[in-house]
Amino acid sequence: TLNQSLSELNRDINVSFEFFPPTTETMEQTLWSSIERLQTLKPKFVSVTYGANSGTRDRTHKVIKAIKDRTGLAAAPHLTCIDSTPDELRQIARDYWNSGIKDIVALRGDLPEGSAKPQMYASDLVALLKEEADFDISVAAYPEVHPEAKSAQADLLALKRKMDAGANRAITQFFFDVESYLRFRDRCAAIGIEGEIVPGILPVSNYNTLKKFASFANVKVPKWLHGQFAGLDNDQTTRNLVGASVAIEMVKVLSREGVKDFHFYTLNRSELSYAICHTLGVRPAEAVPA
Ligand code: FAD
Repeated sequence: TLNQSLSELNRDINVSFEFFPPTTETMEQTLWSSIERLQTLKPKFVSVTYGANSGTRDRTHKVIKAIKDRTGLAAAPHLTCIDSTPDELRQIARDYWNSGIKDIVALRGDLPEGSAKPQMYASDLVALLKEEADFDISVAAYPEVHPEAKSAQADLLALKRKMDAGANRAITQFFFDVESYLRFRDRCAAIGIEGEIVPGILPVSNYNTLKKFASFANVKVPKWLHGQFAGLDNDQTTRNLVGASVAIEMVKVLSREGVKDFHFYTLNRSELSYAICHTLGVRPAEAVPA
């Protein structure tokens, strides 16, 4: 059965979790209780975002250092190049490396509205980082094509450049159309990308927020998904259950298609990601109370 074949497959599944820096005391508590629960699943790494152009890089640094000190997990800061000079980026890279942070998610960052052609693309950042030290680097990939790309092929070549510059893996933008991910993975293989194309899984608990993210990011929200969340605007508990079930169906198919690495956009919550990992067979060594 599917469940049997899944548990046989699962010994070598790797997961990673993405968080964002909290801005209030309450959010900080939520983040830490999520990290404590998810760390029991022994993620390959956890990452912390940085809002390009937000000028709050310190918050990302702080959370990364705290995660590393408190949990010993590999903690990867997201680093964007759109809002810094190459010299500043080199300094940041050296500081990270010297404080034992060897994993980085390397990004360009979104262009502020109306801005000219960027000075640097993410591929330039990957090359710069690799010149400074032998970082483990993840980059971004877009199964449904980055909104600015001239064409799907141009976007694929941009990803190839990032991998050729030394990235170890690509993490995808979230998606709901599993076929589009699988076709994209095939196209990556066909142009000689060897690193893992790790699906980025967004467990949906707030459908209305998701719709906003998705239209901004050029991600298709299929009609069936809309149907799943219809009528649940005031029912968070049921939305969570539905969101978990949607993501569980997706990861089952992906797992059957040979995917072994999964990245979760946790939005700093543990419940859904934990449940999805559980069904994938990714579990703590000993049962942990919720
Ligand atoms: P690039 O790979 O540089 O690509 C950007 C665009 O330029 C694409 O359209 C590409 O096709 C095109 N391009 C690339 N190279 C060239 C070239 N040489 N000539 C012409 N066109 C080119 N944003 C944040 O601000 N903070 C975060 O923490 C963050 N985390 C993210 C994590 C993941 C997993 C993902 C998928 C995205 C994340 N983003 C984050 C969003 C990201 O910054 C935006 O999508 C941004 O617009 C593109 O970043 P990139 O690294 O993919 O850029």
